[in-house]
Amino acid sequence: MTFLGELRDEVSRLETGQAARERAAVDRSGAVPAGLPLAVVRARDVDDVRATLRLASRHRVPVVPRGAGTGLAGGALADEGAVVLDVSGMDRIVEIDPVDELAVVEPGVITAVLDAEAARHGLRYAPDPASAALSTIGGNIATNAGGMRCVKYGVTREAVLGLDVVLADGRLISTGRRTVKGVSGLDLTSLFVGSEGTLGVVVGASLRLRALPEQTLTAAAAFGDVAAAAQACVALAAARRRPSVLELLDGATLAVVDRAEGTDHATRGNALVIAQAEGPDAAEEIAAIADILGKEATWSERAVDPASSQRLLHARRSALPSIERFGRALIEDICVPRSRLADAFAGVRRIAAAHDVAIYSFAHAGDGNLHPIIGYDAPSAQPPAAVGRAADDIFALALELGGTVTGEHGIGLLKRDWLAREVGPDVLDVHASLKQALDPLAILNPGKGF
Ligand SMILES: Cc1cc2nc3c(=O)[nH]c(=O)nc-3n(C[C@H](O)[C@H](O)[C@H](O)COP(=O)(O)OP(=O)(O)OC[C@H]3O[C@@H](n4cnc5c(N)ncnc54)[C@H](O)[C@@H]3O)c2cc1C
Repeated sequence: MTFLGELRDEVSRLETGQAARERAAVDRSGAVPAGLPLAVVRARDVDDVRATLRLASRHRVPVVPRGAGTGLAGGALADEGAVVLDVSGMDRIVEIDPVDELAVVEPGVITAVLDAEAARHGLRYAPDPASAALSTIGGNIATNAGGMRCVKYGVTREAVLGLDVVLADGRLISTGRRTVKGVSGLDLTSLFVGSEGTLGVVVGASLRLRALPEQTLTAAAAFGDVAAAAQACVALAAARRRPSVLELLDGATLAVVDRAEGTDHATRGNALVIAQAEGPDAAEEIAAIADILGKEATWSERAVDPASSQRLLHARRSALPSIERFGRALIEDICVPRSRLADAFAGVRRIAAAHDVAIYSFAHAGDGNLHPIIGYDAPSAQPPAAVGRAADDIFALALELGGTVTGEHGIGLLKRDWLAREVGPDVLDVHASLKQALDPLAILNPGKGF
């Protein structure tokens, strides 16, 4: 029997129609594969995943694991001959344990749905990618996703205690634990976190939840230029302040938000910093943060209630949608030591001028994680050459400043050359050895990640 015939007999749902294959071939990166995948498996349970990988191994067919397809690095792109293994239908929250502050979930659970469910128990799932309303926990784990709250609570890796993973040959393993501590064996959980579907398929996760803070307070300050804003963020770190959110928007971003939203942020300064503090000491913390930000600010405000807090944060939340309203955008996510944040903003401005492209920059400033968004007009999603050259210069800048080419979106398909430059040949060799050990036939998401 053919591969597809055997697969159809074994899995709950197999789609081979052109429309389904087209939809499953792309993610939000804008990149387009040359051909179309063979078929799409809509997995309903672990057995579907195991059967797919077992058969794919036997027939040497590449498998592209897929969550919601919101990835920005081309990690879920599926080319000719591949099978897309869509696990978004495995979306049960199996358990929430309020005493152990733990959730056990299937991979297709939407990030925001888990957070909302945890809230019913006075808890939260802390990692909060801006795509939380769409992205899946499995995708978040596979990309080690970050977000605004990571400055205080860490990235996805810090929230993952244990995983159920189907290996390339169809074996199911469990890694990690349900406990807060535990050091038995190698830390395979961390190996799978951020592995972009290249080492195994996540089919279950035990996740750490945290107490919902009783209050969240917000302050914002505008600055004459982005360097002053960045220095104020560095001053917060030097003063050992612990914001739960620390976001910085440059003047170009403020202008585009104003244009889209009818607001007047740009009249207050050429850069905006928004900070939040939460927990029992929130009042004291936000007062100290506001004092430090206020020193060089051209304008400042403290939110007095949740509505004004949401209003201040709205500038940040609407940044990307505002840019995308007026054209296409290449979304980058370099990360630099936070002490170099001002240098990163200045470097990006120079790059924009050198290539004559529009770059809007905003940052998870507390993490040194900068999103330079290169705007362009083009009939297709394929960016013009100048945009690609500007992106390359931005990656080079990140490395020059002691940073990384990707703080949260991953290597995927699009940044593989840059990974090689960042980590060097010996680390790539170690990657290859790990891949060989876990996926000797190289069927799992080939050509992605590393
Ligand atoms: C508007 C917007 C805002 C965003 N904001 C953020 C942000 O703030 N922070 C951030 O980090 N990212 C952000 N992203 C990027 C994206 O949402 C994240 O990378 C997210 O984690 C991807 O989840 P997904 O379910 O869509 O995964 P997909 O895009 O489907 O897949 C991403 C990668 O994970 C692999 N994968 C998916 N599921 C599994 C699984 N179960 N097992 C093994 N591998 C798997 C895929 O093969 C692929 O390599 C944003 C994207 C958009 C469109």
